[in-house]
Amino acid sequence: MTARIIDGKTIAANLRGKIAGEVARLQAAHRLVPGIAVVQVGDNPASSVYVRTKSKAVAEAGMRAFDHKLADNVGEAELLALVAKLNADEQVNGILVQLPLPPQIDSQKVIAAIDPAKDVDGFHPLNTGRQATGLAGLVPCTPLACVILAKTVHASLEGLEAVVIGRSNIVGKPLAQLLLAQNATVTIAHSKTRNLAAVCRRADLLFAAIGRPEYVRGDWIKPGATVIDVGINRVAGDGGKPRIVGDVAFAEVAQVAGALTPVPGGVGPMTIACLLLNTLTAACAQKGLPAPNL
Ligand code: NAP
Repeated sequence: MTARIIDGKTIAANLRGKIAGEVARLQAAHRLVPGIAVVQVGDNPASSVYVRTKSKAVAEAGMRAFDHKLADNVGEAELLALVAKLNADEQVNGILVQLPLPPQIDSQKVIAAIDPAKDVDGFHPLNTGRQATGLAGLVPCTPLACVILAKTVHASLEGLEAVVIGRSNIVGKPLAQLLLAQNATVTIAHSKTRNLAAVCRRADLLFAAIGRPEYVRGDWIKPGATVIDVGINRVAGDGGKPRIVGDVAFAEVAQVAGALTPVPGGVGPMTIACLLLNTLTAACAQKGLPAPNL
């Protein structure tokens, strides 16, 4: 078998096009231009690339981007003061503080300071709790991206065996909650899971969010399974030139899986599209307008 490649880039471009259409409609009908503030602390090169890509996508969707770059040695109080200012700013519908933050700053404190209505990353404990109890709220972008991509293969996830490798607060746990809400049968695996390969072989849907290059091998895959690779790992390529690979051994897994996301070009672009979607959803909710139905 050779897996169908799930083209995250094209699927994301379609979603971004729909979002741009909805933004234009909101502007014409309600004079509403959704705005997102992206706060970056320090100069982490990966974060800088990500922030630039986000800002470009925000502008292309017709939304407003407010970028704030703070020095690596900024104090926690100063960052919290900026968050408070953004919470109060009516032009700002979404606030994203790029993680990780430097050690002098308590990330949990900063996340908890963001107005939950503007928490487009979906990391605020109130949104996490709403998700866990089945209430509407803002959902983290990468897990949302994973589910949308899986649903391009399976119209319904109901009853499917889903295995999520990874239990981080930003990917694994919220992804498992989303899959549960879709009525999948969910297993969360992690570094202490025994016989991970056998657990994975049960999966109709396998999600890898580990942070280890090409860790998931071809013989871990149930023939025909859908595999969503969240990993972004920088490795030395030919001639020492760095290249990006996922958590899944792509060439091997493609021989067994039914469908597979590539890295790059899978979950990454879809995550950005979901950030735009969350910003649009947040802006509509703040103005008392119905949630966008895209
Ligand atoms: P993380 O916080 O480091 O969590 C990694 C998880 O993988 C942990 O739960 C860990 O288990 C588990 N794990 C580590 N080694 C394992 C092993 N040998 N066997 C089984 N499980 C193992 O990472 P993250 O933030 O969730 O990110 C995961 C990957 O996704 C990274 O490559 C990251 O760059 C990527 N990512 C991509 C996007 C995107 O937009 N595409 C967004 C976010 C993250 P324990 O809990 O037991 O330690």
